[in-house]
Amino acid sequence: MKEMLNETSLDTIAAALCYAMGIEAPKEAHEKNRILSAYVDEALNGEKADRVLMYNPDAIAQWVYKRYPVQLRDMVNHTEVDVPLQTVMPSVTPVCFGTMYTGAQPEVHGIQAYEKPVITIDTVFDALIRAGKRAVIIGDTTCSLGKIYLNRAMDYFLYDTIEEITAKAVEVILEDAYDFVVVYHGNYDAVMHRFGPESREAIGELRANSGEFSMLSVLVEKHWKKHNTLVGFAMDHGCHEIDGNLGSHGLAMPEDLNIVHRYKVYPKENS
Ligand SMILES: [Zn+2]
Repeated sequence: MKEMLNETSLDTIAAALCYAMGIEAPKEAHEKNRILSAYVDEALNGEKADRVLMYNPDAIAQWVYKRYPVQLRDMVNHTEVDVPLQTVMPSVTPVCFGTMYTGAQPEVHGIQAYEKPVITIDTVFDALIRAGKRAVIIGDTTCSLGKIYLNRAMDYFLYDTIEEITAKAVEVILEDAYDFVVVYHGNYDAVMHRFGPESREAIGELRANSGEFSMLSVLVEKHWKKHNTLVGFAMDHGCHEIDGNLGSHGLAMPEDLNIVHRYKVYPKENS
């Protein structure tokens, strides 16, 4: 059966994250995502989240999520709600992450190709800073997420390896000093391009992303008990196989455009 395109755009996530935290959305953001905001309202009984952890894996398509439940089981067990989304075009990393944290379409945020300039329109990070909140991006030295949101009054911790990124994310959770934490892991994408989306090599990275996210979730549950926390497993775009056992993305096809974010709320413990 031909996969249909998801109706709701990735541009709904920025406003939903801000709504969850009780702050104003970025100026150019589209209407907030209904599934995510309704879920947060219900899970927090109308209260707001004062902590958000966004785990951003790269290129895990909806079809990959559906086809590999065993490899993604830990992630699924640490999340509660499916948020199906259609990412933006061209479906490449800087364009999609540009939309995720501005809520704006590519022609508005300005990145319309595989380029990594600093976004100058209003972003979730600017909205957080205006609200007096502390934000941090933990990613790799070459990744889009480490470049396109630079020049803001927030922290950036960029490393060459997944292990260093994960270790810093652990430190940041234990330190409990940031309100909004972004962690980027590009390992599935990198291996998927080289060996194909369903190669043994890529599926190993998929399972790694699931495990790393789950471990961070365990730390949040244990160490952020004083906070209402929203945790997201939120990829930028999907992928498809091309000739020669390689993987690719960037096209206007369901395999590249359809993604499913997963979220979970951890309400604070009553003292
Ligand atoms: Zn990507």
